[in-house]
Amino acid sequence: MTELDDLAELAKRRGFFFPSNEAYGGTAGFYTYGPVGATLKRNLEDVWRDVYVRAMDNMELEAPTIMPEAVFEASGHLEGFDDMIVECAECGGTHRADHLVEDAVADVEDAEALGTDRVAELIVEHGIDCPSCGAALAGEPVDEFNLMFGTNIGPGSAAPGYLRPETAQGIFVEFPRLKEYARGQLPFGVAQVGRAYRNEISPRRALVRVREFTQAELEHFVDPERDEPPIDRVADVEVPLYSAEAQHAADGGVETYTIEAALEEGVVTSEWVAYYLGRSIDFYERVGIDMDRFRYRQHLSGERAHYAVDCWDAETELGGHWIEVTGFAYRSDYDLSKHGEYSGEEFTLFRQYDEPRTVERATVDPDMSYLGPEFGGAAEAVADALASLARRDRSAFESAARRAAEESSGDAPRDGDEVTVEVDGEAYSVPVEETGFAVEERTESGEHIVPHVVEPSFGVDRLVYSVLVHAHGTDVVDDEERSFLRLPAELAPTTVAVFPLMARDGLDDRAWDVAARLRGEGLRVAYDDTGNIGRRYRRQDEVGTPYCVTVDYDTLEDDTVTVRERDSTEQARVAVDDLADAIDRLVAGETLADL
Ligand code: AMP
Repeated sequence: MTELDDLAELAKRRGFFFPSNEAYGGTAGFYTYGPVGATLKRNLEDVWRDVYVRAMDNMELEAPTIMPEAVFEASGHLEGFDDMIVECAECGGTHRADHLVEDAVADVEDAEALGTDRVAELIVEHGIDCPSCGAALAGEPVDEFNLMFGTNIGPGSAAPGYLRPETAQGIFVEFPRLKEYARGQLPFGVAQVGRAYRNEISPRRALVRVREFTQAELEHFVDPERDEPPIDRVADVEVPLYSAEAQHAADGGVETYTIEAALEEGVVTSEWVAYYLGRSIDFYERVGIDMDRFRYRQHLSGERAHYAVDCWDAETELGGHWIEVTGFAYRSDYDLSKHGEYSGEEFTLFRQYDEPRTVERATVDPDMSYLGPEFGGAAEAVADALASLARRDRSAFESAARRAAEESSGDAPRDGDEVTVEVDGEAYSVPVEETGFAVEERTESGEHIVPHVVEPSFGVDRLVYSVLVHAHGTDVVDDEERSFLRLPAELAPTTVAVFPLMARDGLDDRAWDVAARLRGEGLRVAYDDTGNIGRRYRRQDEVGTPYCVTVDYDTLEDDTVTVRERDSTEQARVAVDDLADAIDRLVAGETLADL
């Protein structure tokens, strides 16, 4: 069995996660977290909140998972959130065409960047077969398939909606209100932990590619000219970088840089992205990612989202594959500009100048008694178009005015004094003297800007899966093989398990009391009195419980218990009165010898 098969078996047997709806034959791409898995996942989300919300003093919100179509028209998802699909004519199976090509052709790493036509050609050239039934796929069309799940909002089909494919849009669309909560001051960050939905063509590798998953995203809104990250705080943090250049080089690999060196050498170009790469190392270590199986990989140019300036993925190695667990992107002003444009609302913030500035502003005051008769119903729109042109390009008016002056002196062709604007695809020309064009001097205290966005976007399920795979191991204790999960204590579903040596002679009642006392202290406690003690230890080791407490006959005499550590399997005797405090100290990093 591979390490992923082992983990899948353990996850199912012990209740971490398992395929959903198996009573009805199962539904590909959906997983249910069992009793221990749900707790583990929530603990991981709590650590994420601790780092990216509490410690960074960011806001958190919870937005709906269904959003109206207009949101995704603006965000570009309706148009471009596609993957490449190929359907087998023989069995009807559908597959990610780009993945088939990547798996079959050694030197193709990013088939999506090649486009559907080239991918279809590669399927022919390499004789790629259907992974489900083995029939040839050559000649089958390769199409774009939109990954969003659609629905209708309310009865009827008048208001189409979509299950959000990322949590980020729920933050962006609320920006006009969120900026009020931030008192109009940049920078500020808004986080969200919640479900996202993608109708993946081929869900695979357990929690890695599913159709419903949890994201933890932070959208950090910054002033691109004024705000800088506190890079000093991460300057010395070492990060394993697999740069785009290294990916292209025949002998390129991961190199460890300090954040300072990565910026100086231009490996990471965005200071904000570098800051988050540095800050996040602690998070990955804290949740138990094996840092020897971790890297930051830069996006290749074809892979980068259309809006993103510099993009890096955090990747973990699972069963020989590198999996993206987090995307770090500098999204510029793309999202807020689009929502501003499509909604007509203010997705801007007022940036105060250090000192008021006197600026020249071009204005128009068109003569409607001329425009009305001349352009009829289009007159208002022509006036608006003139005003917009004056703001954007006042030289159009100035050169028309210059030509008008020359015409009146008789040296220029006639009609050169007109300003032309376009309304609904039609050109309208207006003599400059009818536009009321003027340039005024004004004193302004600031300007409206569209903030830029820096985004770390974490896939919670992939992190949970990585943590489990990296924590899982086997060793030999007392001549017997044991399977264990070396989970960090703050993630472990149970922090301490309490056992009576035997379920008799009052030991069980005493153990119940001890467990209740620890629960009263806020600890996650399990009680187990079945099977021999060795088996009970094994059971807890396998779900990652870091500490076990045994109540024995001595407890009845001297009120002490045995505390046993999962990783070292060492034991120490601790007074029941000191137990909760001892467990807290162990969780905080002390060892049994320190107690
Ligand atoms: P993306 O917007 O594609 O960069 O996704 C952001 C994060 O969500 C990724 O880093 C993944 O960890 C996670 N993610 C994306 N798609 C899936 C999926 N189908 N199943 C599980 N996690 C996903």
